Amino acid sequence: MEYDIKDVALYLRKSRGEEETDLDKHRHILVELCEQSGWRYIEYSEIGNSETIEYRPKFKQLLKDLEDNMFDAVAVVDYDRLGRGDLEDQALIKRVFRDSETFIITPEKIYNLVDDSDDLMVDVKGLLARQEYKAIKKRLTRGKKLGARQGKWTNGIPPFPYVYDPSRKGLVVDSESHETYKLMKQLFLNGESLQRISFHLNNLGIPSPKGSTWHDNSIRRILIDETHLGKIITNKVEGSAHKNKKTKDLKYFNKDEWIVIENCHEKVKTPEEHQEIISKIKVRNKFAPAARRGAFILSGLVKCGYCGYGMQIQGKNQKQDLIKPCNKPDPYGNRCSNRGNKVETIIRALLIELEQRKFELEEEVSTPQSLINYDKLIDTTIKKIEKVNKAIKRIKELYEEGEYEKEEYQERMDDRKLELNKLQSDLTDYEILKSKQEAMNNEERIKRYQSAINVLKNPDLDAETKNKVLKEVIDKIVYYKKNTGDNPKIEVTYK
Ligand SMILES: [Zn+2]
Repeated sequence: MEYDIKDVALYLRKSRGEEETDLDKHRHILVELCEQSGWRYIEYSEIGNSETIEYRPKFKQLLKDLEDNMFDAVAVVDYDRLGRGDLEDQALIKRVFRDSETFIITPEKIYNLVDDSDDLMVDVKGLLARQEYKAIKKRLTRGKKLGARQGKWTNGIPPFPYVYDPSRKGLVVDSESHETYKLMKQLFLNGESLQRISFHLNNLGIPSPKGSTWHDNSIRRILIDETHLGKIITNKVEGSAHKNKKTKDLKYFNKDEWIVIENCHEKVKTPEEHQEIISKIKVRNKFAPAARRGAFILSGLVKCGYCGYGMQIQGKNQKQDLIKPCNKPDPYGNRCSNRGNKVETIIRALLIELEQRKFELEEEVSTPQSLINYDKLIDTTIKKIEKVNKAIKRIKELYEEGEYEKEEYQERMDDRKLELNKLQSDLTDYEILKSKQEAMNNEERIKRYQSAINVLKNPDLDAETKNKVLKEVIDKIVYYKKNTGDNPKIEVTYK
């Protein structure tokens, strides 16, 4: 078949009495039709089965998009799916299809409503010459805004193993990267963990897309990406989270508002492989230990001194909680070997630290400091400013009354303005110094350390409360213990 069609909308709607499985069947037929013909397509599938356009939101959207000249054709399993509703609906459908010169494609026929005889099957060969010119013209008028909907890649850096091909404004597969992609996909489908795949690739010396080492997260992102199914997904977000860009606020669209354009570039995985990947990843998430933030006294606070990762805690009750040994692997799979410990031991060391820190602060506070009374300075400066302003007003009045020559007036004015500037900059300085002096107030800190100490020592409080209080005071506890015989060491960073 040779007619000039590139962009197709699939419209799916159940008839009364049909099931979800019928819709799947219809989808399969239409997708097959598009793939065989090499058409890009976007799906519009209705949830309800109403005949009336009023209650078919997807169809209303489709009509709007047709008016925007987005498609060359709409594919349906049979003509009736567009609507057998009242005459008014029928007329609307005809008008939109005719005005936008959009074909209606069914697996058996192609309809062209531009011809007066609506239900006439279009003679495909005769149509070509006439339509070719029209189709090209129509495509050229499609706005730049619709670029993404035409299968052009507008989503930034293409996911591995794709690269951007400027000549077709789309994605092509990089053959060398493709080998790596196939390897990671196969390893994962064979049951390897994301982490083990990352070790494998790193040990093979294959660089990650950013030129460094692979990590489980980067592999997961690539494996679940739907771009690899030949799709481009847009309309996921609108605007920008960037503070300094003058765009709309970031807004996430619901999945049913995403625009998915199929058949845009070469596929590197099948839908079946994709399903298997997704379900494997879901199963893993289910069994991964839940992030038990704040469940233990030291949750989220202890970092490994050798590799910097957070150390895991295993708990039974507060007395028997354990810091698990760190065996976090580096990108090549070599594991860290920080030893574990009893949480109780760390807390004892932490209490000594807190007492020490509190003592130091108390020393500082008791050393008499020459505190400057900025409030008073600010007050007098404001009064001086008021005075100068009055003087300026007076100078103007005297000048208007003819008391000064222009030259003298200017001189007096300049002096006063200089004075005013100086006072205003003094005022700003005092305000800054005042807030700094307040921030340096150690007494507040001492109070907080003391309350952390009290809370830690209180056997009646639960772990969550203790964890919360500690997190207000402490940024992190860096922990070291290399060999069994070594004394553990901690370094505390305060907030
Ligand atoms: Zn470590």
